[in-house]
Amino acid sequence: MLEEELLSFLVVHKVIEMDEDYHGEPTAKMRSQCLQWITRLANDYPVILKKGIEKDQCNRCGAGKQYIHWVSCARCKQQCGYCERCLLMGKCRSCTRLYLFPLIEGDSSSFYTNSTTNIHLPTLTKFQNDALEKLIEFYQEPGTKDFLLWAVCGAGKTEVIYPLISLARKRKHKVLWATPRRDVVLELAPRLQKVFTDTAIAVLYGGCENRWSNGDIVLSTTHQALRFYHCFDLVIIDEIDAFPFHNDPMLPYVVARACKERGKTIYLTATPRESLKKRIKRGWKDSRFLPHYKLPVRYHGFPLPVPKIQLESKLGKRMKEINKIPVLESFLNRLRDERHPGFIFLPSVQALPQVKKYILKQDPYWDGRLEMVHASDPLREEKVMAIRKGEIQVLLTTTILERGVTIPRISLLVFQADAPIFDEASLVQIAGRAGRSAQCPTGEIIFLAEDITRAMKGAIGQIKEMNRLARKKGYLNY
Ligand SMILES: [Zn+2]
Ligand SMILES: [Zn+2]
Repeated sequence: MLEEELLSFLVVHKVIEMDEDYHGEPTAKMRSQCLQWITRLANDYPVILKKGIEKDQCNRCGAGKQYIHWVSCARCKQQCGYCERCLLMGKCRSCTRLYLFPLIEGDSSSFYTNSTTNIHLPTLTKFQNDALEKLIEFYQEPGTKDFLLWAVCGAGKTEVIYPLISLARKRKHKVLWATPRRDVVLELAPRLQKVFTDTAIAVLYGGCENRWSNGDIVLSTTHQALRFYHCFDLVIIDEIDAFPFHNDPMLPYVVARACKERGKTIYLTATPRESLKKRIKRGWKDSRFLPHYKLPVRYHGFPLPVPKIQLESKLGKRMKEINKIPVLESFLNRLRDERHPGFIFLPSVQALPQVKKYILKQDPYWDGRLEMVHASDPLREEKVMAIRKGEIQVLLTTTILERGVTIPRISLLVFQADAPIFDEASLVQIAGRAGRSAQCPTGEIIFLAEDITRAMKGAIGQIKEMNRLARKKGYLNY
């Protein structure tokens, strides 16, 4: 590695770990070179050196006592703690040295950031523009640190964020886009690069090759965001409700660590959890108040399809005994007759083969037209692709497909929708799969259950409320 390159790498305010067993870069030689450089830099740079684990706390991810395990360490030959919570990034131990490079205010940022000139922004709808205006207002206003964009499934929130990033880049600001899911990182990376053609974009996720790469825009999974220290002017946290350990103080830790002191954070979600909903309801004088904007309509301007509740008794028993379940049957018959694709959401992996068996016994038409999918299914992506291509017609799935999947003309049924795993957010996300294309903006969504739960009512209430708000704002196209 060239000295200059190394220097620029060090000065991007990363957290650098030494004595770690890296899978990829850097090599042992580079590591020792790095160490030498850090030592030299430390003379005129305010580098902070910390132990990986200190006083029952992880200095990398902020985890407390319950995550720290003490073992006799093969490397330091002592009782040495390591953190279980951020294990995905490699072991952070007592004998790991963390070098934190904080930002020096007034540091010429041009040193490491290149200018962005070629930007190809998509055209926004009126409602997307209204949301963008609020985001820009927030970004330019000193004081407020964070903001929530509550955008319905299919609103095109990613497109709303592009112009904001563009604004940040024109000011030579550095941007972090963190998302809990690796597949979102992989899907978003080429889209982002198409918009910002000449900008260096670093893509980081667990197991990726180029962990040491540097970019003016960093796209990463949440854990990887812990590699940065007071580095970004704009931090975007996507799908904040799907964040791992959402009841855990890790998220505030990640944000506080990666964001510059005067930086800004934007949270994106279609289904905020209670803690965020409480914060947006507080008065603006309250320090916990979270400013927010609701984007209540999809990019195509049609209202969100509203789920229907259908009740039947003894669903589990009837399933096992292959005893008629009329709602499920008529749902499948409609799919068969109208040649529509369908998702049937089930509360557990165990239920998948049962329901499959039931359906095949009831109607041999489905033989070869139906597949099952769950989180640890190695063929998950292939099966989603198969339904997209029309090679299969129905997927029986756990909640794993509740997010991120878009299939035109899809119909949805949630079997045993009163099961505890289907909380309000989950049901709103599931319903959000229907009617996403402009060619077919409607879609059937059935909650099949024995009882009506608060989650079912809440989800339907939330969807209707967004439609009402969209109508009030004059956003609906029809
Ligand atoms: Zn940790
Ligand atoms: Zn050790």
